[in-house]
Amino acid sequence: MSKEILKVTNLSVGVGEKQILHNVNLTINEGETHVLMGPNGAGKSTLGTALMGNPKYEILSGEVSFKGEDLLEMETDKRSQAGLYLSFQNPIEVPGISFANFIRSAMEQRGEKMSLWKFKKALKEKMDVLNMKEEYAERDLNVGFSGGEKKKAEILQLLMLHPSLAILDETDSGLDVDAVKTVSTGVEEYHRTQQGALLIITHNTKILDSLHVDHTHVLVDGRIVAEGDGSLVAEINANGFEKYMTK
Ligand code: ADP
Ligand code: MG
Repeated sequence: MSKEILKVTNLSVGVGEKQILHNVNLTINEGETHVLMGPNGAGKSTLGTALMGNPKYEILSGEVSFKGEDLLEMETDKRSQAGLYLSFQNPIEVPGISFANFIRSAMEQRGEKMSLWKFKKALKEKMDVLNMKEEYAERDLNVGFSGGEKKKAEILQLLMLHPSLAILDETDSGLDVDAVKTVSTGVEEYHRTQQGALLIITHNTKILDSLHVDHTHVLVDGRIVAEGDGSLVAEINANGFEKYMTK
């Protein structure tokens, strides 16, 4: 029996005067891997950020339940504590806070306290999976990190925080082949060892090679225009979005 993690019902979202998402419906069950595809400007990032509770995005109508709770009623930090994780297209830099401390305090906020020794051991294990040099842990978060290093840093957070649902917003964009490989190794590890559910927003299907895609959603002009299984990803890669475009 599959357990429902996220249920988005008729969600409409606007920014300023402009409506971006129109009646979006989406259900993700425990451990499932979903892909969200769509042309630039379709509203994919808007969906991710609105779910995280970014106040710039106004919920015009609709409902969202996350593990049975009303997500839209939760403060942003409560959403991540509840197990929702969003990896941004452009991660922020946090001077003055080491990467290790950042992850440790995020874990503590989620109620996961462990000794420093245990934390360091767990961190090292995950960093090894991602082929990250130990020194990164002591550097300020994302400050001076290359694009590839920032992505590794995000995937490391994913492995350490083991959320119930991770939304990866073009985590693989602009990365070289090796970096995409590392990201997909990390994502696969998260999925396999922690039964984490995924909503992957991507144009680069290399990241999907090692994952089984359960469901694909196609977003065009703020509306879900097609749904399918993993084979829809290949279909869109071959033929593009044209047949779904109305204008
Ligand atoms: P995608 O991620 O699919 O490329 P986005 O969600 O980033 O699309 O953007 C969808 C539309 O909403 C675009 O037309 C974009 O310009 C607009 N938009 C997104 N965020 C904002 C914002 N903060 N202010 C104004 N317009 C925005
Ligand atoms: Mg985007």
